[in-house]
Amino acid sequence: MKLYSTNNHNLAVDLETAVFNSLPADKGLYMPNVLPKLDDAVIAGWDKKSLQEIAFDLAYALLKDDISAQDLRAIINDAANFDAPLVPLQDDTYILELFHGPSLAFKDFGGRFMSRIMAHFLKKEQKEIRILVATSGDTGGAVALGFLDVPGIKVTILYPKGKVSPIQELQLTTNGNNIEAIAVDGTFDDCQALVKKAFHDPELNEKFNLTSANSINISRLIPQMFYYANSYARLKNDYEDIIFVTPSGNFGNIAAGIMAYKMGLPVKRFIAATNSNDIVPQYLTSGNYQPRPSVQTLANAMDVGDPSNFVRIMDMFGKDLDALKQMVGAYAYNDEQIKTAISEVYNRKKYVLCPHTATGYLAVKDIKADDEQNKDKAAYVILSTAHPCKFPDVFGELGINYEEPEQVKALYQKEKQVKQMGKSFEEFKAFLINE
Ligand SMILES: *Cc1c(COP(=O)(O)O)cnc(C)c1O
Repeated sequence: MKLYSTNNHNLAVDLETAVFNSLPADKGLYMPNVLPKLDDAVIAGWDKKSLQEIAFDLAYALLKDDISAQDLRAIINDAANFDAPLVPLQDDTYILELFHGPSLAFKDFGGRFMSRIMAHFLKKEQKEIRILVATSGDTGGAVALGFLDVPGIKVTILYPKGKVSPIQELQLTTNGNNIEAIAVDGTFDDCQALVKKAFHDPELNEKFNLTSANSINISRLIPQMFYYANSYARLKNDYEDIIFVTPSGNFGNIAAGIMAYKMGLPVKRFIAATNSNDIVPQYLTSGNYQPRPSVQTLANAMDVGDPSNFVRIMDMFGKDLDALKQMVGAYAYNDEQIKTAISEVYNRKKYVLCPHTATGYLAVKDIKADDEQNKDKAAYVILSTAHPCKFPDVFGELGINYEEPEQVKALYQKEKQVKQMGKSFEEFKAFLINE
């Protein structure tokens, strides 16, 4: 596979370059130059295959020039070593639980696959790399736990002190070994500014092979196709159509679903659900793409004012808004609506939605109201992006209790190892050089 930039379709880099660069120099995003269509017969046989086997069919079609079948199978089996169960919620609506990995969020699929792809290429080259990542909470946990003990890679994670949830902080700070956490006395934007400056600093680049692990890396998107395909396989014999509803912030998760669709996955429609940061829902209505500073919401992993992966989606529809609207819809919900949805589902089903997943639930209600004729034929799959325990603030107020997963109970026993720091770049740089 060769990859081009969404800003330059004539570019053609190999997978290794795209993975370690993360971003092309022209500030576009890398995309595969072809999304190969799978044979109908292969897809028809998926009901008899496991998540890992389906993942291999998809990934191998894309990466067969880059990684041997044997290596790719090993990478997938090691990276996707937890389940993505479909839980029936009501009638034809299912919750796709993507929070059974180590950091309890869907980003584990991307984090674990990216780390193993990087390690695969590093083994060949015998070099060491240093990953710098700024996080507002969920990305850092998936990267920390995804890269833990991966040979040849050291990870430094910066997070805003006091601004991530207690469980997110434990996931970032209790690892040790090749994972190092820095609590910055500032905001997420300050953390991101420090990381950006480091990437542009000649002295640091001289000393380290610096790489980023942010969510626009193409190797994080590829494994996110797997669970869309697996859900289809589990439901295809019972329903004529499938509609996926994806709670969205940077629009990477839904972009991966659309990639799978372009590779032949039969999907009726994709729906993005957002919080009050409704840039994409507005765009689909008005035809005017107007990014703006994000506002803080209960679904804070989706507080994004200029969704970076949206250009990938536009690219896959040839920048044609009408073609996009045929296949993709979008709905937005505010905090009050999110709280009401969480309470409603808890009272009726005793099921606890995280605030992000709650936007997906609300979208299903609206789609069904808008789409009378499909009611009886389609299954609605809501991607549940995180376990509720990562976003505890809202549940006390709503009087809702949930069971904490075993991984979390184990975290409380561990000791935090964290370096405190101000937001001065000189201090950060001196730390990296002298530690
Ligand atoms: C990252 C994240 C999202 C948003 O995913 P995108 O790929 O950025 O659209 C939604 N929910 C949770 C819990 C997340 O961590």
